[in-house]
Amino acid sequence: MMQTPSSPLVGTVYIVGSGPGDLDLLTLRAARLIGEADAIVYDHLIAEGVLELARANAEKIYVGKKSSNHTVPQEQLNQLLVRLALAGRKVVRLKGGDPFIFGRGGEEIETLVESGIPFEVVPGVTAAAGCAAYCGIPLTHRDHAQAVAFATGHLKDGTINLDWPALARPKLTVVFYMGVGGLAEICRQMIAHGLPASHPAAVVQHGTTRRQRVLTADLGSLPARVEAAGIGSPALIIVGTVVRLHDKLAWFQPPSGNST
Ligand code: SAH
Repeated sequence: MMQTPSSPLVGTVYIVGSGPGDLDLLTLRAARLIGEADAIVYDHLIAEGVLELARANAEKIYVGKKSSNHTVPQEQLNQLLVRLALAGRKVVRLKGGDPFIFGRGGEEIETLVESGIPFEVVPGVTAAAGCAAYCGIPLTHRDHAQAVAFATGHLKDGTINLDWPALARPKLTVVFYMGVGGLAEICRQMIAHGLPASHPAAVVQHGTTRRQRVLTADLGSLPARVEAAGIGSPALIIVGTVVRLHDKLAWFQPPSGNST
């Protein structure tokens, strides 16, 4: 685009994954872009301390996003990115984990494409990879699981619309994002579709951070155990016999978290 006094160069929007929580898991590319950005648009699940990498005069715009309480509707957010870029700003749209795994990164760039705004996508460590590593639960293992699936456990009208026969497989590890509210339903469906109630399952809250909590149990007992422990969002549910490895392989000891 030609630059004229009345039309500044269009800025680029960087859709950046900020990893699962531990600031050290940010990529070098993410850190560099955050340090250069004119505007940073972020929501609540970003690593603690990440905004301190920004320039002091960078504009920081919070757009919230808790599952039941979207502070800024998606369409408005898409338009905000377009507006900032049209004003010539270098924009970082910061997201938890990886932008293309339950991150709506795809929806945001569709609007950018339609508006002719240049963009780049920066991958991040997704919560499943981060939690698995910091819990000592390998997602695949030659003796346990030859495949892994990431699924959304988000409840809609009391149900979760998933291909349960495909997920309830003995040699598969399934990681549910956004599943704490639907935990009882998830465990019920996995058992109803053929897994034994004794099939191992874990919940990881605040994975990779100082507040990490890990609870391992089985499909039959996990919902009651999680409720008794008072574990809530953000948390991942890991279903599979790989969960048995936690006892042997756990290495990360957060000061205030615990493992049961
Ligand atoms: N794009 C993100 C996922 C966003 S969906 C990613 O790639 O990780 C939000 C869900 O991610 C939460 O409901 C929770 O299930 C999971 N999550 C994100 N950070 C987490 C963390 N530190 N520990 C456990 N689960 C986490």
